[in-house]
Amino acid sequence: MHKVLLLPGDGIGPEVIAEVRKVLAFLVDEHGLALELEEALVGGCAYEDGGDPLPAQTLELARAADAVVLGAVGGPRFDDVERELRPEKGLLRLRAELGLFANLRPAILFADLADASSLKPELVAGLDIMIVRELTGGLYFGEPRGIRTLEGEVRRGVNTLAYDETEIERIAQAAFQIAQRRNRRLCSVDKANVLEVSELWRDVVNRVHQQYPEVSLSHMYVDNAAMQLVRDPKQFDVVLTENMFGDILSDIAAMLTGSIGMLPSASLNGADQGLYEPVHGSAPDIAGKDVANPLAAILSAAMMLRYSLDEPAMAERIEQGVRRVIAEGLRTQDIVYSARQHIGTREMGDAVVRALSD
Ligand code: NAD
Repeated sequence: MHKVLLLPGDGIGPEVIAEVRKVLAFLVDEHGLALELEEALVGGCAYEDGGDPLPAQTLELARAADAVVLGAVGGPRFDDVERELRPEKGLLRLRAELGLFANLRPAILFADLADASSLKPELVAGLDIMIVRELTGGLYFGEPRGIRTLEGEVRRGVNTLAYDETEIERIAQAAFQIAQRRNRRLCSVDKANVLEVSELWRDVVNRVHQQYPEVSLSHMYVDNAAMQLVRDPKQFDVVLTENMFGDILSDIAAMLTGSIGMLPSASLNGADQGLYEPVHGSAPDIAGKDVANPLAAILSAAMMLRYSLDEPAMAERIEQGVRRVIAEGLRTQDIVYSARQHIGTREMGDAVVRALSD
């Protein structure tokens, strides 16, 4: 029996998570998925409820779960809340407490949505890339850091880029395992022509490669990788990179697909426990209107079935269902590019459930 915690959060979070619940409940009832679902508060709603964006009870449930699916947190209502109690702090603490060091950001462009991309349709139709980003080390966490005042009142900002072998080894292991489940091509992105950290990165990735001879490994400098992502993105299968490079490259890859309402993500720890969430935020401008696209959240649940619950057939079933509703021409407002009619959040969730039953 898999234990899954749903954290709807704020804004459109509860609307999209309601559709995830619908889809998972269908798989439980009709296809024998053994799943126990719990739900808890996180973010602004948790702060309003008890003064803490990550209540102890939520953290306890998250620790006990095999996976967590989160909607989104935040919104303008919480802009004046003290920094440490802001909704986003709850999410950051949750990621840290669960030790989630591997961030998975797929960029998939369904052939029928190729017009959504800013690139030519033939360059992106059928795109399916997975970016594996190291999430807890590198420049964003390295010490020393800070702004100091030097002699002559000149200020100097300092951040430190540092990785040790164990940090590189575990993210490389995760990336090779993901590549094994996909098309077995891994491209490790670094800046080894300039940075010693990248030299070590390359060395460790090559060493880990020896355990995965069936995966073909290549290395690419980050500046070239940025260029190749917009020149010929379909050359990539899995891209492995460190925290800051991954931050930038995953946003470039996301934009290749053109729609924020379609993008899932996952963050995993060494025990395959994961936090699954759409890339989008709480979208306060459309919250409560039944117009948000629930597909990013539904595709996040599919990732959960594949990467934390070892249920690849169930994951494939959901992804197939989403492909089918898109091919049928069903669109929420954010992915309508012509005069075509659009449907609401609930209707889209119902359509996916219908596609699962066929
Ligand atoms: P956003 O992703 O919430 O919204 C950006 C734009 O995309 C908006 O116009 C919104 O309407 C649209 N959009 C987003 N998701 C959509 C969906 N599923 N369907 C249709 N349209 C969608 O980003 P933002 O406006 O910069 O941030 C709003 C709030 O969300 C802020 O409080 C921010 O801090 C928070 N946020 C939370 C997360 C998270 O929970 N992981 C991530 C990003 C932003």
